[in-house]
Parts: sequence; structure tokens; C-alpha cells
Amino acid sequence: MLARPLLLLAAVAAFVACPNARAEHTSGVPGWQQDVHYSISVTYAPQKFQIAGQETLAYWNLSPDTLSELYFHLYLNAYRPGSHMARAGASREDWRIENLPPRRRGGEWIDGATILHGDSLHVVTDDTIARMTLREALAPGESVIVCLSFRSNVPDVPERMGRSGKGIFAAQWYPRVCVYDRFGWHTEQHLGSEFYGDFGAYDVRIALPGNFLVAHTGTLVNPAEVLPDSILARLLAPGDSAVTIWDRSTFRVPSDSTARHALELPRTWVIHADSVHDFAWACEEKWIWRRARWNGIEIYTFHRGSDSKRWNEMANVGARMMEVMNRRFGPYPYPRFSFVEEPIGAGGVEFPNIVWITPRPSTTGVRRLEYLFAHELAHNWFYGMVGNNETAQAFLDEVLTSFAEASVMVTLFGREGNLTLPRKPAWLFPKDDSRRNAWRNYLEFQARGIEEPVVTHSDRFKNPAAYYPSVYHKTNVGLWTLRSIAGGERFDEALREYFAIWRFHHPYADDFFASMNHALGASYDWFWDGWFLRTDAIDVALEGSRVVAPGHRADPGSERAPDDSFRVELRLRSRGGIDPPVPVVFRDRKGREVTHTVPREVFLGAAGDGVYRATLPFAPSGVELDPAFTLPDLSWSDNRTSRWPRVESMFDNWRASPQPIGRTLLLWRPDLWYQADDGPEAGIAFDASTVRWQRALHGLAGVGARSPRPFADFEARFRSLAADPREIARARGYDMDGHRGFRVSLSKDLDSKIEKGFRWKLQTGVDYDELHDRDTPRRPAEWSRGDYANLEGILSTSRKLRRVRWEGSVRLRTDLLTERVSYGSLYAATTAEVSVIPKFPLQLRAVAGRVRGGDVPPEERFYLAGAGPRGEWSSRWFRSRGTIPTHWIAALGGDGNVRAFADTRPSGRTLVALNAESRSGRFLPAWVPVLGKLRVPVIEPRTSLFADIGKVSEGGIILRDLAADFGVGVRTKPLFRNHLTLRTDLPLYRTPPEAGERPWKLRAVLSVGEAF
Ligand SMILES: [Zn+2]
Repeated sequence: MLARPLLLLAAVAAFVACPNARAEHTSGVPGWQQDVHYSISVTYAPQKFQIAGQETLAYWNLSPDTLSELYFHLYLNAYRPGSHMARAGASREDWRIENLPPRRRGGEWIDGATILHGDSLHVVTDDTIARMTLREALAPGESVIVCLSFRSNVPDVPERMGRSGKGIFAAQWYPRVCVYDRFGWHTEQHLGSEFYGDFGAYDVRIALPGNFLVAHTGTLVNPAEVLPDSILARLLAPGDSAVTIWDRSTFRVPSDSTARHALELPRTWVIHADSVHDFAWACEEKWIWRRARWNGIEIYTFHRGSDSKRWNEMANVGARMMEVMNRRFGPYPYPRFSFVEEPIGAGGVEFPNIVWITPRPSTTGVRRLEYLFAHELAHNWFYGMVGNNETAQAFLDEVLTSFAEASVMVTLFGREGNLTLPRKPAWLFPKDDSRRNAWRNYLEFQARGIEEPVVTHSDRFKNPAAYYPSVYHKTNVGLWTLRSIAGGERFDEALREYFAIWRFHHPYADDFFASMNHALGASYDWFWDGWFLRTDAIDVALEGSRVVAPGHRADPGSERAPDDSFRVELRLRSRGGIDPPVPVVFRDRKGREVTHTVPREVFLGAAGDGVYRATLPFAPSGVELDPAFTLPDLSWSDNRTSRWPRVESMFDNWRASPQPIGRTLLLWRPDLWYQADDGPEAGIAFDASTVRWQRALHGLAGVGARSPRPFADFEARFRSLAADPREIARARGYDMDGHRGFRVSLSKDLDSKIEKGFRWKLQTGVDYDELHDRDTPRRPAEWSRGDYANLEGILSTSRKLRRVRWEGSVRLRTDLLTERVSYGSLYAATTAEVSVIPKFPLQLRAVAGRVRGGDVPPEERFYLAGAGPRGEWSSRWFRSRGTIPTHWIAALGGDGNVRAFADTRPSGRTLVALNAESRSGRFLPAWVPVLGKLRVPVIEPRTSLFADIGKVSEGGIILRDLAADFGVGVRTKPLFRNHLTLRTDLPLYRTPPEAGERPWKLRAVLSVGEAF
């Protein structure tokens, strides 16, 4: 390519010829950068998880500026209480630095700093940044050598570094000089986001006991000194396919003390790395080390014996991925690459020449391990070699990595079906691909209305939930979109050019955009600006089409030649903010088809409206925009002359089905049920969704065998007409189980878009219900005949704290302009999941309710033992007679929930109750000998302890003669689609007992679902 030498020449010329223009930066052209050489010599002490030793940094100031100080990162200081990160992460819900016990904390200390053969340096440390003032300022072109002695404690946290047995995963483990670039020093405190470093060389000596194997950035210089001869021979043996170099999975420290001491004698691993901007290593006693080769590059995997089934193939897979990346994006110039299985829970992290892979088991058949391999390997191109400032612009490497990851998966496993392992039967498990997955995630995310610009600094996303879909999915979709607009070959070539120009340099977003524009030969700023700098979207629509000048047949005897052309006019609209060129296809009934591209200039009219005129050889019967779905259009339904939704129907396999792009997915399944009134019931349940609108319409329709009587229950969910997608409107209508009625409601999230603190939600609605068949309900006496409308409002809130998940709600309900009934009720409930006592999770619940009025129907009263009739109606199990035999004592969780009284079901106008339950995850606690190990397959019973106390009364509450119970319960695991828990509670004690009954007695109450 011509462009690259020209650009480089321009860069050199700019630098040499006009030093005064140094502060100026030409986007797309690499400028100056600093050069570093680290020599680090450390000892690892496994007892303390401490790395300690000397670091010598040679630092060349190639900037045009004089530097009077140097800054270093001490990243590990973030992992101790009081750090900036601890405070910034105060609202993290899973683990908190503030609560780390001292032995698990991290820390990084500079114990001494001097200039080589010179003065000592004064070090001022502020948490994760150390500043050293230079006695003599460092002029442009000069270098300085700084000698540090340091200690680093690797914390025990699920982060990018961590511990595993006696070993460690060492990342950000040495004082690393901050980057000085055209924006100055980058001395931001480490708040958990990603990294930025100068390219240079590393000479690292790590001394550690001989029982460890080390995986690392760079190349081992002294293999003969640290590896046994037999292993070394295997390592050097030729051959490309995967072999096990060393299986240490059965390694044991010898019991004989002489042998143990000999083994634990320190060995020093001497490692050299060139042209990298960071150095990471890990050590472990029990790895299985495998190797494959591609084109002379060694691809290593290090994994533990527990997951060999999946990992054994991965060295070969890694080598094939290496080949795809080299061919597709550019050469990997280093001799080695290591994939290391890490148990610390980092999720997958990239470092130069080495990556950590967290092998979470994949329950849904997703090729998770392959994806992580592809992603982290691709990072060695975009991050490893093209070293952007990840802290400021995390998207710049993630976008290209996500794009490359999809490219690798498509190349290795095909466009369709690369996401999951093939499963049978194929019609039940349709194939899906990673690109479509990214599109779905983007479109769903866009619909949530929490988007923030992709270029946002990685620590500054207002809503943490916006970070991942912005940085990974939206960007990835953007590149595939631009590829389809600019042309695949040309785009791939442009990416290779970007990589070639920016390899071993530090681009920012504007450099990426400028380089791509240059390589593509056109400015795509309209796309970069909208997609990356703003939160614009693509939303095109076909408003109408008409034939304005029909062609005519040649008249016999006419002078004019036959003219078979038709002039067609399309009215178009673009509302997303980005006006793309749009492919459009014209079809006629004879199957003729012509494809045009509507230029983006068409949309430059007012408010994105435009008219496109085309001349066609036929009169089109149908017109469609973007028929191949190359644009991530917010709405595909308005892209065609036909407005019928395109439906793809599929049998509901009760797992997540891949949502097709551009179609409505109609999932259906047969439905069978039994209740005493209708006898067996048969029907069809269905569920229609689009990408942005899950469960837009769902319901059930069928017929009971006995009468026969049809039944139906439909619910539609709409985004409200207001633009805010956090509002949802629902409409439901039903005629089933003796009831007919409807419900219309609107719910709205009231909280700020930031998912911290309390989250509020308001629901309001109107419902109407009529009981037209008194024989059907499970408890007919608890129902009036209905036929009145109600107004309901619910305000609910939730809060997650570290050990408590809390929810609360208040419900107001009243009859709506009805003559026959007159009531108004207030009901408040709060639940908390408390995990304060280890292994004894506690669920707590408190409720209070009051209903007043001249004519309170029984279904609006409060019930002591469990859900009232309206609550029971919402469960198909309790809705009607005979599904659960009517003479069984059964109660659905709800209302007072004092479950021992399920046989008598007292009710009243006032209710107060408290419930407590501790649910264990197994049938018997593990400490019970022998039986604690017992497993019951299929239902996997679990036990619980519970206690309830409460009261219902007609007037105000007098807290005397409270009803109470306690006992044990047994429940199954969720048996179906992650719910359907069958439960039996044994309230062995209740008070007050029935007349003539003892408080202690074996009672049983059957139920479905958790108590609350
Ligand atoms: Zn990544």
C-alpha cells in the first residue's frame, strides 16, 4: 500500500522540520511517543503473596517538552480500604474493598528511589499514583535511569489480578511509569477501569520456589535452568499439532522434608520481552501445559486438570485463531502466546502475549471458551500492538476486538451457528450467530433509553449498565454496518491499514476515524459522529411509493421506439439522526428484481424526509428498504410497501430462542390442563416478540372437554405513546375459569437512569372482573359476582445493599364509580433477603392492610393464611376447582401468610402479619453425617424453617390474641422453566389451636411456588 509510507514520511517530516509545530497533532498520523526499558528483579514469597525487589527504568523523553517530574502507577494500592477505588465503588453490590480483611488486601510500596549513580528521589504517593520530582529537568531527547525498590501484595479479589492456591496471577504488579503523551501526563487514580502504557522492552527476573510453573509475557531466556531436561526436550521438539508439554495436575509436595526443601529452593526465571507496553505473569503448581504451533509461533495453554475435557483441544483452536487473526488483520510478530485458565473470576483479561481465561461452565451450549479465546487473542492486536488509551477510550480497542472476535468465530465455525454448539433436533434449536447476537443486544439496549456516547471516559458512564452494551455491542454493530456501507473488501483492507500504521503507537478515537476515512477514500464522519460521539441511531422508513410515469407499448405504426421504463418515486424518512445510504429492492409479480442504493443526500431535506426517484424496467408491485438487514434499523416493520409483519413461528423450546432480526418471532406450544368444571383442557399458548419488544403479545386459547367451553387469555404490552421507553402499557382481556374481565395498566420507572440507591416504580390501572360461573372458583364463597370496575395504584421501591435486598410497596385500591360496592383499601408489604449469618439466609416479610367502605366484596378483604381470592386467581393452580383437589389443605403465598390457618382461612378488614423463613439449598444440612450427602434426583428437595405471626380483624388492630405458627417445610427445586416449585409446609405448632386441638400437631399445607 502506498498510503502507509506516505503517512509515516509525513509524520517524520512534521517532527523533524518544524519543532515549533510540535503541539499540533494531525489526526490519523502517529506522532512522538516516549520510550521505556524496564529491568526488574524480584522474589515471589507465596506465604505472603508478595512480590519484592528492584526495578530499573530507563526513560527516554522523546516528547518536545521538558519534564520536571515522573509519575508512576501503583495500581495495587486500589485494593485496600480508603482507596479512591474503594470510595468510588462504594455502591458495588457483590464485594467491597472496605470489607476486605487485612490478609486479602493488596498494596504497593516504593521503599527507595534513586537516579542511577545519583541522587535519591523524593517520592510522594497519593493512593495509586506516585510522583517523583527530578532534580534536573529532563529535556527533549534526554533519558534518565531511575532505580526503585518496591514491594507488591497481590490482593485476593476477583479482579484482573488475584490468587490461586499458593500461586498468583500477577498483573499491574510493578510500579509502572505513567504515559506522557500529547495531552500531558495521564495520572488518573485507578478506579477499576482499563490501562495505558508506553511501549518498550522488559527484562524481568522472577525468583520463586521450584514447585511453580510460570506463564508470562515475552520469552524465557534460561529454560534449561528452570525446566527439567525431559520437559525441555519436549518443548523443543518439532511439530505443529497440540501436545502436552508438562502435565503437573497430579503434582504433590513431597512429604519427605529433604525432598521438599530441595523442591522449594528458589529458581530464577529470566524473561525478555520487546515492543510491549505491559508485562504480566502467573505461577501455579498444578497446571497442564500444552502447546501447538502456527507459522513458527508457539501457542501455549495452561489449565488445571479439572476442565481438561474442554481445554485439551484449545491449543489447536488457539493456533487456528492465530492464523485467522494474522491473515485478516496483520502479523503477530512475537514468538509466543499463552492462554491461561484463571480461577479468580476476572472474566477474561488481556495482556501482551498472555491472557487470562475464566472458563465459566456453559449451560446453554454457548461456545464460551472459544469466544473468550478469540476475544482475548484479538486484544493482542487492538490493545497489545495498537496501544490506545483504554482508560480514557475503552471502546477503541473493544470495538475492534469485538469485531475481530466475530470475524474469527465466523471464519472457524460459520456465519450461522457459531454462537452455540450444534444441538438436536435442529428445528428445536435453530442456529444463531454472534453478529446477530450483538445486534439484538444493541437494539434492546437502545430501546431502554439509557444510552451514553461510546467515547465516554470509561470511569464516567453515568449508568454503569450503559458501559458494556455501548463499548462492546453498539461499537461492534457499528463496524459491521460501516463495512456493509463501504464494501467488505475495502473495509477489511482499511482496517489492515489502520493496524499497520498504528502498530506500536497510541491512537485516540480521532486517529482511528481519520485513518479509516483516509484508507476508505471518503469521509465517514457523518457515521463516526453519530454512532460514536453521539447517541444517534439509524431509523429509516418507507412512507410510500408510486409510479409517476408509466411506460407504454410501441403503437403499431408509431415512430417512437417501445419504452419499457417506469419512473417510480419513493417517499422516505430518516429519523435516527444518522442518514445512511439505503439499499432498496424493487420487485414485481413476475419475480423480477432490481436493487438500487438510495444516496444519503436524499435525506438532507427538512427533518430527514426525502424523495427518491428511480427508473425501472417494470412497474414494481413491492418495494423494500434494506432487504438483507445490513443496517441496524430501529424499526424494520416500516421498511416495506406491505405492512404485514413478517412472522417466523417456532415451537417454544422453553429456552431462550434466538430472536430473528427484522421478524416477529411467534413462539407456540401446546397447552394441557385439568380443572374439575371443564375437565381436561387443551389449547395453544403463544408468545410474540420482536427484538426491541419482548412479549409484545402473549396468551393462551383453548377449549375444555366437558361442556365444551372455549377459553382465552390475551395480554399485549405496548411502549406508551410517550417517547420514554421506561413506560409500559399493558392490556389484558380474558374469559376463562368462570371469570371474564379486562385490565389496562401503565407502569413507569420513576428513578433516575442511574441504577444506584432506591429504585422506584409506579403502576396504575383499571380492572374489571365478572364471575359468571359460580361453580368454577376453588373457593366460591370468597367471591361476589363482581361486575364492577376498580382503580388501583401501586408504588414500589427496591434497594440492594451488601447483605440485604429490600423491597417495599404500597397499594391503593378502590371501586370505580360503582353503585353496588363501595370500598377503598390500603395495603403495604415489605420483604428483605438478609444474609448476615453465614449459611443461614433469612427472608423477612411484613404486611399491613386495611379496607374500609359500606359494601366491601369478599374478594377485597384480607386473608390471614395466604393469598386472597384475587391473588389465588392469578395462579392457574389455585384459580379453579379441581386442579389441586379441593379437599386438600393448600394455600398460595400472599396476604397474611400465617400458613397454619389454611384450613379455616380467617379473613377481615384489617391485617397485620410478619413472616420469617430460612431456605436451605439442600434437603439436610451438609454437617448431618451420611444423610447430609443424600441426593434425590429430579426434584432435589430442599428444606426451610419458618415462623409466622399475624392477625385479621373487622375493626382496628389490637395486638392481642395473635395467630402464630412455626414449622419446617420441604420444597422441590424449580421443576419447569426455572419455576414451578412444589412445596409442603408442616406448621407443627400453631396458636390459637382449634377447639379440642393441641398446639403441637402434624399438619401439612400444600403450595406451589415460594411462600414469598
Ligand atoms: Zn475486551
